[in-house]
Amino acid sequence: PPVRRILSVRVHDVTLAEALELVEAFIAEGGSHQVCTVNPEFIMHARRNPDFFRVLEGSSLNVPDGVGLLWAGRMLGQPLRERVAGVDLMEALIARAAERGWRVFLLGAAEGVAERAAKVLQARYPGWVLAGTFAGSPRPEEAPAIRERLQEARPDLLFVAYGAPQQDLWIARHQPALRIPVAMGVGGAFDFIAG
Ligand code: UDP
Repeated sequence: PPVRRILSVRVHDVTLAEALELVEAFIAEGGSHQVCTVNPEFIMHARRNPDFFRVLEGSSLNVPDGVGLLWAGRMLGQPLRERVAGVDLMEALIARAAERGWRVFLLGAAEGVAERAAKVLQARYPGWVLAGTFAGSPRPEEAPAIRERLQEARPDLLFVAYGAPQQDLWIARHQPALRIPVAMGVGGAFDFIAG
C-alpha cells in the first residue's frame, strides 16, 4: 500500500478491507510481520523515542488509527483514505480467524481481562482457536517466561495489550525469534472488548 509520512512517521494508506487482505497474505507467507496502529499519540512518541521510530520504520503494516491522522494527512499533503481503528482491525481479524481456523494468542492487560475478551470474541465469532492468554508485563525480566508460553502455544496471530510504545517495542524485540506470522499491538482493546 502507499506509504505516507505524518511528521516523518510512516503510515500506510490502507482501508480496513485492504489491511485484512494483507494480514491474510502475511499469515499465508509465514515469517514474522508486525502490525502497528498509528494514532496521534504514536506520532508524538516516535518523535521523542528513536527506538520506537525504528520499529515503525521496520514494521510490515502501519494502519492509520484515528481521524486526527486523516486530518493531519490532509493538511500535510499525505492523504489517507480511511481510519482503521486498532480495535476494529482486531475484531475483523478475529472474524477472519474464525473462517480460517487461525490460532490466536491474547497477551497483556490486567489479570483476567484477556480471558474475558476471549470469551466475548468466541461468542461473537465462533470457530477461531484460542492458543492462549496471559497478562504478564513488558518488563524484560518477564520476557523469557512469556516467550516460553508463546513457543508452546504456536499462535498464527498475536495481539499484545501493553500500551504504546511498550507493546510495539516488545513485539519488535521478541517476535522474529518466535516466528509468529503476525503480531499487533492493540493498546486498550482487550479492556474495551471485555467491557
Ligand atoms: N498494560 C499492561 N501492562 C503494562 C502496561 C499496560 O498490561 O505494564 C495494559 C493495560 O492494562 C491496558 C493496556 O495495556 O489494557 C493499555 O491501554 P491504553 O488504553 O493505556 O493504551 P493505548 O491504547 O493508549 O496505547
